[in-house]
Amino acid sequence: MATSLSSSSSSSSVPKPIDSAEALRTSRILSSKLYFDVPPTKAPLIYSPTYDIAFLGIEKLHPFDSSKWGRICQFLIKEGILDKVRIVEPLEALKDDLLVVHPESYLKSLNSSMKVAIIIEVPPVAFIPNCLVQKKVLYPFRKQVGGSILAAKLAKERGWAINVGGGFHHCSAENGGGFCAYADISLCIQYAFVRLNISRVMIIDLDAHQGNGHEIDFSNDRRVYILDMYNSQIYPFDYEAKRYINQKIELQSGTKTEEYLDQLDKALEVAGKSFDPELVVYNAGTDILDGDPLGRLKVSPNGVAIRDEKVFRFARERDIPLLMLTSGGYMKSSARVVADSIINLSKKNLIDLDSRLS
Ligand SMILES: [Zn+2]
Repeated sequence: MATSLSSSSSSSSVPKPIDSAEALRTSRILSSKLYFDVPPTKAPLIYSPTYDIAFLGIEKLHPFDSSKWGRICQFLIKEGILDKVRIVEPLEALKDDLLVVHPESYLKSLNSSMKVAIIIEVPPVAFIPNCLVQKKVLYPFRKQVGGSILAAKLAKERGWAINVGGGFHHCSAENGGGFCAYADISLCIQYAFVRLNISRVMIIDLDAHQGNGHEIDFSNDRRVYILDMYNSQIYPFDYEAKRYINQKIELQSGTKTEEYLDQLDKALEVAGKSFDPELVVYNAGTDILDGDPLGRLKVSPNGVAIRDEKVFRFARERDIPLLMLTSGGYMKSSARVVADSIINLSKKNLIDLDSRLS
């Protein structure tokens, strides 16, 4: 996608392939069913029980808590902060929806269970029938992608939205990796450009890892401003993608809460002065938590809540719609921390899970 954009600058009057590609993309976005109308009785909180991944012990092969998404909602329901009937269930992103960003060849490559095993970083699962990989891994991911795309529409209507899933920021149009098989952030933004008639989006990526997928996809797109704060001593070490970050904050392993939040304050101040977005996409990975085996930072659970509050305040003060994706977070405790942060946002009146549109 990025390369075709950069090669489209010729002023010849001969019809250019990019135009028909762009027209096809627009028509796919306009005919998609993912942007369905959500009744005001629902909260802008998106989740489906089909998000959760568990089969043949895959959850034991991977440090990832693959039922994190469901547990976040269970905590919110148990605490009385969320009524189950208010949750929005998204549709699955179908092939035509995914083709908005991904080339057909990439989607075809996911038919190989070996390829999927590499992307989700489990030992080769060639012994697992491919149909099971499709049904138990890729289908949940496609539901989460549908959730991320719908979140932009809901954020525009309600001011905010949370997809309790998504945030596959290592996947670009042409390459999956790091547990990310589909580029939900790139898809979400392309849909927002066309369906929400907006032209300036800010990605605030605070997952512990560098968000190389969206960085590659929007490398030549000045409509997107990327703030990425990550541990530079862990995966993915993507030096090409780093060049496309508008504001890059590289942390060291072991960075503690106070230092982390201090850096975030400074970064948000610069971002606010540099760019005037019409939508904020907040990638809120909780692998910054102290003890996370992959993130290797030392932020406390309360630090995560303060972090999320700062980002929501940033958007609220500027009256910018914000959508949040839960992204990485690989400990059993992550679900509780995400739920506590959502409860904190509710207590501080930055979100209202009870509200009905009048
Ligand atoms: Zn991560």
